[in-house]
Formats: sequence, C-alpha cells, structure tokens
Amino acid sequence: MMDPFGRHISYLRVSVTDRCDLRCVYCMAEDMTFLPKSEVLTLEELERLCGTFIDLGVRKLRLTGGEPLVRKNVMSLVRALGSRIGSGLEELTLTTNGTQLTRYAEELARAGVRRINVSLDTLDAAAFKAATRWGELDKVLDGIFAAKAAGLHVKINAVALKGLNEHEFDRMLAWCGEHGFDLCLIETMPLGEINEDRTDQFLPLSLVQARLKQSWTLLESNHTTGGPARYFDVAETGTRLGLITPMTHNFCESCNRVRLTCTGTLYMCLGQDDAADLRMPLRDPELGEAGLRAAIAEAITRKPRGHDFIIDRRQAAPAVARHMSVTGG
Ligand code: SAM
Ligand code: SF4
Repeated sequence: MMDPFGRHISYLRVSVTDRCDLRCVYCMAEDMTFLPKSEVLTLEELERLCGTFIDLGVRKLRLTGGEPLVRKNVMSLVRALGSRIGSGLEELTLTTNGTQLTRYAEELARAGVRRINVSLDTLDAAAFKAATRWGELDKVLDGIFAAKAAGLHVKINAVALKGLNEHEFDRMLAWCGEHGFDLCLIETMPLGEINEDRTDQFLPLSLVQARLKQSWTLLESNHTTGGPARYFDVAETGTRLGLITPMTHNFCESCNRVRLTCTGTLYMCLGQDDAADLRMPLRDPELGEAGLRAAIAEAITRKPRGHDFIIDRRQAAPAVARHMSVTGG
C-alpha cells in the first residue's frame, strides 16, 4: 500500500476497545462516555480485518486502546494474530497501561509478542494516582516486572506533563537503565475534550532534553522502530531514550501507519478527522473480501500529508474531537 505522498503503509495500530480501567488526566475526563457495545466489532471481525491488512502489506501491528487488556477474551485475538508472525506479519506488539500484565505477560510471550510499551508517567505513587485518577503504582510496577520475567522487552512511555513529572526524568531514566528498559517521552497532544486546559499541561521536550543533557551522555542513534520517536543511546546505562515531539518537531514526512478503531473506522492520520468506514464492507457478504480490499485501498489514497496540532490558549478547542483512547495511542 502506497499513499499519494509515496509513503509505504506497513504499520497498523488497532484500538481493540475504547474502554479503560484508568482515567489519565490528559487522556479522558473522569466521567468519560464510551461507545455502545453494539457498535464495537467482535474479536473475530477484528481478526479478519487485521488479516486483510496483513495480506495487503502490513508488517507490524500494534494492539492498543483504551486499555487493550481489559477487553474480554482479548487473548484469543492476540493468539490468532500471533499465528501470522512469519507468514506476512513481522511483529505483533502492544501498548498497555500495565494494570493487567501480572495476569497476561506470559500468555503474551507465548503468543509471539516480543516487545511491549507500558505507559508510566511517574515513579511517585501519589503523582501516579493524580495522573491516572484510579491507578495504583505498585500494581503497574508488578506488571512491568512480570513482563520482564516473561522475556518481553519493555519500553516505558511517559507523557511529559508540566507540574506532574517535569523534575522526575533523571530518576526515571536511571530506573529504566537499572532494569534494562528503554524510555520514551511524549509531548501531550490536543486530542479530545478532557475538562482541563491543555496549555497548563504542555511541556516541550526540547526543554526536557536540554535538562537531561546536563546529567547524561545522550548520543544520537540511528535506531528506529518505524515510529515517530527520535532515539538517543544513553552512554551511562546502555539503554535508549526516545523523544516523540509532535508539537515541536513534526514527523509526518516518514509516517508509515494507519489506525483502526474498535468500530472498524480507519483513520489515516491521528491528527485529522478524515476517516473511512470499514465495518460496512466488512459486514456486507455481497462485497466480500474484494470489496473490503477496495475500501482499504481507497482510504489509503486519502492519507493526508500530516497533522495540524497546535496548543495555544487562543485555540482552546482540541485539534480533533475524538480522544486518543478512540483512535489508539
Ligand atoms: N491504555 C494504554 C496505555 O495507556 O498505554 C493504551 C492506550 S493510550 C491512549 C496510549 C498512549 O497514549 C499512552 O502512552 C498515553 O500516555 C498516550 N496518550 C493519551 N492521551 C494523550 C495525549 N492527549 N497526548 C499524548 N499522549 C497521549
Ligand atoms: Fe486509559 Fe491509556 Fe488513556 Fe490512561 S492513557 S486513560 S491508561 S487509555
């Protein structure tokens, strides 16, 4: 699959549910309304849709959400997709908040998952509660170590938030180094209404990078995971630091991905509203597999050049109305 700007689309991110057992302040309002279950694709439908994408050239697939591990019976989908590794698919990964990992880490490894991203914004229990509203830090740490014990390579994702974790990155980098985890810092993006002012949360990573350089030797690395992160080798730890800077450094020119929601809507860009409905062709027996492939091909021709994110008090409304938990972070 190639888009109008010559970018090969080989990476699919799938939000398997928009529901979550946490309520991170930058992601959702506490009284978030979720999609009615009747609109959500079955796991079998998601499996078929992902299979078609793999047949069309997707090589890397990431399950995300909402929280992917709270979807009932999600491991059946993980196992089914895992069985495609080596026959089309090169890698199956997961982004999780870690709350269910003590239960699922070994099963994920058995299904062929080798790397996972775990979101952890702080190592301070009180700050963790403040950021996630409902989370328990110890539960997530137990999950992270269960993943490590199961042989999964763990990358810690932290959203950089003014007033929450801005003075903690030294400590987090040291902690990740100690345990062999890579750390990826993310700028907060204006996605969805959260009942708070995002200008108060936004912390540019250029500032964080400059501060970290005072204590760490950060060597620019060629490493890439096919994603938007720029990586540095941390000389003191042997681990990596990734920076995802959608707000201060646009990365769209090398974008290789599209995003599928749990209702079968395909977003060709995280930061734009244009989308294609794949649920209708998926469910229409008359259109069949050829109809589904044609709908996907047509959607790829609409992939835009890039996003138009801006966080500014004068632009109080989010760039796109849907939340990260819908499109899948
Ligand atoms: N629940 C899982 C988790 O938290 O890892 C997967 C879904 S979550 C939406 C994926 C990632 O998106 C998390 O790392 C989260 O911190 C990040 N995220 C959520 N809202 C965001 C926002 N407005 N800006 C930047 N990152 C955001
Ligand atoms: Fe849930 Fe992930 Fe959003 Fe936090 S960031 S509320 S864990 S979906």
